[in-house]
Amino acid sequence: RLELNQLEKEFGDKKVLNGLDVDIEDHHIIGVIGPSGGGKSTLLRMIAGFESISSGQIHLNDINVGQEKEKLHKRCGFVFQSHHLFLHLTVLENITLILEKVHGYSSQDAEEKAIRLLDQFGLKQHVNKKPQQLSGGQSQRVAIIRALAIDPDVLLFDEPTSSLDPVLTYDVLETILELKKEKKDFVIVTHEIGFVKEVADYIVFIHEGEIVEHGPVEIVEEPKTDQLDDFLSKVF
Ligand code: ATP
Ligand code: MG
Repeated sequence: RLELNQLEKEFGDKKVLNGLDVDIEDHHIIGVIGPSGGGKSTLLRMIAGFESISSGQIHLNDINVGQEKEKLHKRCGFVFQSHHLFLHLTVLENITLILEKVHGYSSQDAEEKAIRLLDQFGLKQHVNKKPQQLSGGQSQRVAIIRALAIDPDVLLFDEPTSSLDPVLTYDVLETILELKKEKKDFVIVTHEIGFVKEVADYIVFIHEGEIVEHGPVEIVEEPKTDQLDDFLSKVF
């Protein structure tokens, strides 16, 4: 469940999100779409608790985001547009760090879990590399693994496939479909309409800081507003 109440964000005197209101229940994968600069990443960072709320409220499942950061960060996994791996740590350490420090794993358990996931995503031979020694797509997969490693209830992804080639994009799509079967909740920001149509069950279309349309994924087949119609005609 994702509920936004009169959510606003200002950077200085620039209003970036202008009173977002939505209450989404019974949908597991929410796709956030819209033109560049509209405020998608800002919204996702606010839901993730990494950007302050100027006014209004966010509820994610039973978590009041403005007030329960610690609970939020224990139960949510994040993948950002630029993936923010720790550059001084190895691939393995990037994943074990959070398992040990935030989730109380022993170093042995953390390592076993990290290696199992890295193997599953075809990255086992890179465990001891530093992020600079990886390709963009490999780094992105490490970021996704790091988000998955904590067995989160909710995953927040900002352009998870932006730096991947078509094959890896397909892998990520498959992974998300698998996680959907496990009833994990996602909020995914993406430019890829094909991707969103396949995985999302609810769409939020953000245009210049406002939710112009939202509803079940079918809304992208029959846009009601010129803004969504125009956006869809450009991304196809
Ligand atoms: P894209 O599709 O290009 O990723 P977006 O929809 O994710 O775009 P945001 O990154 O949320 O857009 O940015 C929305 C607006 O907020 C933009 O005008 C941007 O310049 C502004 N903005 C974002 N972060 C900051 C910041 N830290 N300080 C000032 N302005 C910001
Ligand atoms: Mg963005």
